[in-house]
Amino acid sequence: MSSQKIGIVGSGLIGRAWAMLFAAAGYRVQLYDILESQLATALQELDKDLHRLEEQGALRGNIRASEQFALIGVTTRLEELTREAVHIQECVPEVLQLKKRLYSQLDELLEEQTVVASSTSTFMPSLYSEGLQKKQQMLVAHPLNPPYFIPLVEIVPAPWTSPTAVERTRDLMLSLGQRPVTLKREIQGFATNRIQYAILNEVWRLVSSGILSVADVDRVLSQGLGLRYALLGSLETAHLNAPGGVADYFQRFGGEISAVSATYGETPNTQEDRETLAEIARQCEQLVSLEKLDERRAVRDEFLIQLAKLKKQF
Ligand code: NAD
Repeated sequence: MSSQKIGIVGSGLIGRAWAMLFAAAGYRVQLYDILESQLATALQELDKDLHRLEEQGALRGNIRASEQFALIGVTTRLEELTREAVHIQECVPEVLQLKKRLYSQLDELLEEQTVVASSTSTFMPSLYSEGLQKKQQMLVAHPLNPPYFIPLVEIVPAPWTSPTAVERTRDLMLSLGQRPVTLKREIQGFATNRIQYAILNEVWRLVSSGILSVADVDRVLSQGLGLRYALLGSLETAHLNAPGGVADYFQRFGGEISAVSATYGETPNTQEDRETLAEIARQCEQLVSLEKLDERRAVRDEFLIQLAKLKKQF
């Protein structure tokens, strides 16, 4: 059990999820937000969520929900948040100007031992840390939603992030039971979104060309590839799919992979192709109406709890 202090900036959806992950591992957590009302709501939600998880048998860590909740405090003063923190996890909205303003405030306050990690899904760390005095203490640690049940964290350094900051963040994530991957250098989209967008592009093309309906194209993942991918990555999947392993796989299927890849065509313009977007939205809403999205999210999270348990045995 650690009694080190973790600061969290922004107490919305992701900030609260991080607070629960850190508290489960015994860290002292302090949440900071510009809205005092948001902090009060966050505490209520955290109390409720931790106790609900405990009832469901899905609480992480070795201490009870009430003990975990007792480890979480709040502040509306950034200088209090940064004091004696070993790590700060930034979770403010995805607006570059807002992040830049916050990082220049943090630059004034950061102590030497503190690493600041952004939860950003899209901004490379150089975009908001360039020119700052303590930029070597700043990087990205990008979770996937919901982080409580999805262990992946992408650690992305800026060109100037110190190797120590990268190592410490990786060790910290491991101490939470998360599963970090460390990119050697920053790249747009990191790894997850690069792969996710490659899939979305092809799904879009298959629907817009009328080859598959939304329900069927999603079934290719949910009833097919996704079942393997819930357990194995795409390279290990290939490794198991040929008698002589992955080298044999690419020898056998490399020609076909190149031939199919040559037929992909243009990257879809998902903002301007309004006709396809309207059709995808219409069909998606037939599957799950907008009013039922929250209900469906709750079902997803419930099954993710089971999947997370099952994966531990794999
Ligand atoms: P959110 O809107 O739920 O919460 C943002 C919080 O930040 C709010 O409580 C708001 O009051 C607070 N805030 C705004 N400005 C602030 C400031 N200057 N200082 C302190 N607090 C401030 O947002 P979220 O969904 O939790 O996203 C936070 C970050 O996590 C974003 O960078 C986002 O890209 C990333 N992320 C989100 C998801 C997701 O699915 N929501 C997944 C992975 C990563």
